[in-house]
Amino acid sequence: MHILLMGPPGAGKGTQAAELVKKFDIPHISTGDMFRAAIKEGTDLGKKAKSFMDDGKLVPDEVTIGIVRERLAKDDCKKGFILDGFPRTVDQADALQQILKDLGLSLTRVLNINVPAEDLIERAVGRRICKKCGATYHTKFNPPKIEGICDVCGSELFQRADDNADTMKNRLSVYEASTKPLIDYYKKLDLYTEVDGRQAIDKVTADLIQVLQG
Ligand code: ADP
Ligand code: AMP
Repeated sequence: MHILLMGPPGAGKGTQAAELVKKFDIPHISTGDMFRAAIKEGTDLGKKAKSFMDDGKLVPDEVTIGIVRERLAKDDCKKGFILDGFPRTVDQADALQQILKDLGLSLTRVLNINVPAEDLIERAVGRRICKKCGATYHTKFNPPKIEGICDVCGSELFQRADDNADTMKNRLSVYEASTKPLIDYYKKLDLYTEVDGRQAIDKVTADLIQVLQG
């Protein structure tokens, strides 16, 4: 099952990917997570990505496409993957088609989690992530049992540097200009399905699973 999870920043892609990983036992590949890990480790990739991320801009395609090509070539992707946050431009989508062709793979479905723009800033600003295991919470919509502490592993939660209202405005306009056109791109390939991301988290999960198994 080779799945692409689409949707604007804060739509719930990471949250849903975690559920789909449990259900289908396939890797979750998030370019945002890969960049954040590289920044934490202080690698060249992290140095290249940081200023773009801090400004809410896209990391250049030549950097991003390269890391995805490397990741998808790993053996664990043969049985499937959940790609989250990539592609974000038409050039990235074209590159993905070529990468998959080279690997003898093809996309099973492109799932778009649709959430209106007016909800997204609140979702991002309230997002909290576990420093250790990456579990995602929201201060209002999905709070941990103990404030600031991960339910799963007991570690501290943190707030992403780009999860503030100003940077979110940039990220949303980048989404409108560069990423939204991918909806038509995947409609034309007959791969596209939309799910209502305004519903409760477990209802969104149920809808996604129904599309994938239906
Ligand atoms: P993305 O990966 O698309 O940027 P996340 O999965 O990190 O989005 O979700 C963004 C924020 O919104 C998180 O704080 C998450 O807990 C919260 N969230 C996710 N899905 C829902 C939902 N269906 N309803 C309300 N809040 C949600
Ligand atoms: P995300 O974790 O998906 O919200 O991504 C956080 C940030 O990482 C984005 O705002 C971009 O700066 C960068 N990023 C993640 N994925 C991509 C991508 N496919 N292309 C370019 N930049 C990306």
